[in-house]
Amino acid sequence: MPDPVRMCLRCHRITDTPVLIQEIHSASGPGWNVYACPDCAPHLPPAPDPLEELEAARRHRPAKEERRMP
Ligand SMILES: [Zn+2]
Repeated sequence: MPDPVRMCLRCHRITDTPVLIQEIHSASGPGWNVYACPDCAPHLPPAPDPLEELEAARRHRPAKEERRMP
């Protein structure tokens, strides 16, 4: 798996100068890192809950499987 896009945890913008907020360790595979942009990093709590962020992102995404029209 290639390096994931470094998206800010807080404002969800892609950042060229990511600030590492937290390292996530997964039991079933390689972990990943959580980044923020320099603008948001000072406003973030020291230990955000990335799992809730993931859940929120997942809920945001429309289900593609329902659209099978060619
Ligand atoms: Zn940001």
